[in-house]
Amino acid sequence: MTQPTNDQILDALRAVRLQGNGADVVTSGLIGSIIIKNGNVSFAIQVDPSRAAESEPMRQACEAAVKKVPGVLSCTAVLTAERAPGGGPAREAPPTLHSAQRPQVQKPLVPECGAIIAVASGKGGVGKSTTAVNLAMGLHALGLEVGLLDADIYGPSVPRMAGVSGRPTSPDGNRLRPMEAFGVKLMSMGFLVDEDAPMIWRGPMVQSALQQMLGDVEWGALDVLVVDMPPGTGDAQLTMAQKVPLAGAVIVSTPQDIALLDARKAVNMFRRVDVPILGIVENMSYYCCPQCGHRAEIFAHGGARACADQFGVDFLAEIPLAVAIRETSDGGRPIVVTEPESPQARAYLALAEAVRDRLRATSDKGARAAPTIRYE
Ligand code: ADP
Repeated sequence: MTQPTNDQILDALRAVRLQGNGADVVTSGLIGSIIIKNGNVSFAIQVDPSRAAESEPMRQACEAAVKKVPGVLSCTAVLTAERAPGGGPAREAPPTLHSAQRPQVQKPLVPECGAIIAVASGKGGVGKSTTAVNLAMGLHALGLEVGLLDADIYGPSVPRMAGVSGRPTSPDGNRLRPMEAFGVKLMSMGFLVDEDAPMIWRGPMVQSALQQMLGDVEWGALDVLVVDMPPGTGDAQLTMAQKVPLAGAVIVSTPQDIALLDARKAVNMFRRVDVPILGIVENMSYYCCPQCGHRAEIFAHGGARACADQFGVDFLAEIPLAVAIRETSDGGRPIVVTEPESPQARAYLALAEAVRDRLRATSDKGARAAPTIRYE
């Protein structure tokens, strides 16, 4: 199929006009650089941060216009609040759109999904993605229909950890078909942009990219959708925790005190937006020597359990620091699937069982509405 050109995309976008002065979005200077990759088009729309919500219909109109261009398989337009030096808006802010154009009713983002759960950590490098991948595979091994959304847009590692590459297809030109690994459906920004492409995300962009990866993907019927969150507890994470109707959050921490301080921040962040904490996982909890099987507790083992007690949340599992986990995870062969009898895989399966049981207990209490942010 012929690849759409930059000019074709700009021409299509010129049909999208702003409410108020009637100027088009291209002439108004709102469109950032356009990335075209195998028929997948993405670009940022610059808006005043205070107008992010009311700019949503314009964002949707831009996507709809671009999708009509021959050769376009998918289009991802994200709102960005990039500012020019000096603090003012980067370009003239778009005039207000008619309130009638604003979305009035919130449809569920993933209508056929039993529960969306977040795997989060207070900081990077604690093994959050490794845990998310093996938890998703573990839930699948328990007989559940599972999806895994890599929302760690700053460093999407799920494609590599699950051993999947390539681009998602879009049979109808509107919605993307998820990729699949070992029976689990996958979606990641890593499938849509090159791994080494610089990704600079700001709050509103993160929000709209994630909402699309939830809402514009044919997830089909799922029991659980596991979301690998971006690390940390900043605005992007808080917004996501608020916008996605999460049934619960799993917090991953290493045993060192400093990481636990971060874990506490993560627990507090979810509490602030009324997302139930399913529990804490202690990763790299102890070291198992692959030769003699000796168990050495190199870090102050047990800190996560104490932290969980202190916070009144459940302690879900201890995952050992093991060469086999690193090798299988970085080699795209999740240990739960490729070495299911190993002690490390059993630790992840115990985690999956604990999460499944807590989800059942939560759903028995009735469905949750989308949380609201409370500022303290
Ligand atoms: P995060 O998502 O928190 O940034 P990752 O899951 O990407 O962390 O893990 C960081 C590195 O640590 C990866 O190389 C991964 O293979 C390794 N790793 C994660 N958990 C373990 C573990 N329990 N034992 C050994 N290596 C691990």
